[in-house]
Amino acid sequence: MRPLKAYLSKSALLHNVAFLQQKAPNSQLCTVLKANAYGHRVALMVPILEHVVNFFAVAAIEEAETIRTLSNTPIILLEGVFEHHEYHLCDEFNFIPAIGNAHQLNGLLDAKLMNPIDVFIKINSGMNRLGIRPEELAHYYQALNDSENVKSIQLMTHLACADEADDTKTRTQLALMANLPQHLSASISNSANIFDDQKPAQSIVRAGLALYGASPFDDQTAESIGLKPILELRSKIIHVNHIKAGEHVGYGATFTAPHDLPVGVVACGYADGYPREVSKEAYVLIDGYKAPIIGRVAMDMFMVDLSAVPESKWDREVILFGEALPIEYVAQWAGTIPYTIFTHLAARIHFNVID
Ligand SMILES: *Cc1c(COP(=O)(O)O)cnc(C)c1O
Repeated sequence: MRPLKAYLSKSALLHNVAFLQQKAPNSQLCTVLKANAYGHRVALMVPILEHVVNFFAVAAIEEAETIRTLSNTPIILLEGVFEHHEYHLCDEFNFIPAIGNAHQLNGLLDAKLMNPIDVFIKINSGMNRLGIRPEELAHYYQALNDSENVKSIQLMTHLACADEADDTKTRTQLALMANLPQHLSASISNSANIFDDQKPAQSIVRAGLALYGASPFDDQTAESIGLKPILELRSKIIHVNHIKAGEHVGYGATFTAPHDLPVGVVACGYADGYPREVSKEAYVLIDGYKAPIIGRVAMDMFMVDLSAVPESKWDREVILFGEALPIEYVAQWAGTIPYTIFTHLAARIHFNVID
């Protein structure tokens, strides 16, 4: 079996849940499990979360259906339904759709449901992605409130800049929500805004990235804001080359050895989700020693300079990211964010749940 393995820590996950609940003690916690739990595998996450959180949230009804085979926890459809017949599944399986445009509204008004369902009206408070404009709310509220298909109505909005140090845009979005004439309970905060001491009172906060123990702020690691990384990606050295000064490494021969050195081949490549774009600062950890990545990351492997690692040899375990090596570093080396690294973790990686 290929030695590339992901270890999911149950205790770190439960720590993050408790920590987020403590940050928003008067709100219910919705954990966002879209994109196969940000690459962490819903089948592993759901059994740990279902008794400690109030809601799950996903991007698509197919994702909700998969989760429903594992748990009865209510599931919020952040983007609502895509086709009108999906409202029947909301009724049957306790999915809570967002309603954010006329197609979604009319589909629900026209549906013939057995039981009324809970819904969110999604407000575009400034991000200009999904949702209705605030001035349309009165009409949407009235129509849904009058519908026999609707049991309860809350509001939802999404913040565009909650992770940025300059909070001007966030304040504008929050002021818009606070000044709506309809005083309905709302779900507003994403991970970054949960860390804002001035976040609004609300019924439900929605945590994605923070749940997985990564920082939404690009200048802070998870640990520095009280979160524990829940995933560690490990592999092994599957071959060692002792190369001479002036020899090259990898596709394109982009690395030239300045002196004789031992080169380890790590079983992990861009097809596993490890970013090909990492800079020259990129390294992995072997027994706590840094081994810089040299040459280009290939599809299934990359090479590391083992000079600083005592007794560098075949079969040594390598940490690619995790508690000892923050994923925020890998994201920075690749000029990206932890979200993309997590969601690109490939299906062929073997996952294990620990403690
Ligand atoms: C993905 C998503 C979230 C979670 O965002 P994080 O930054 O990962 O906490 C919350 N709300 C909506 C609408 C989303 O699409």
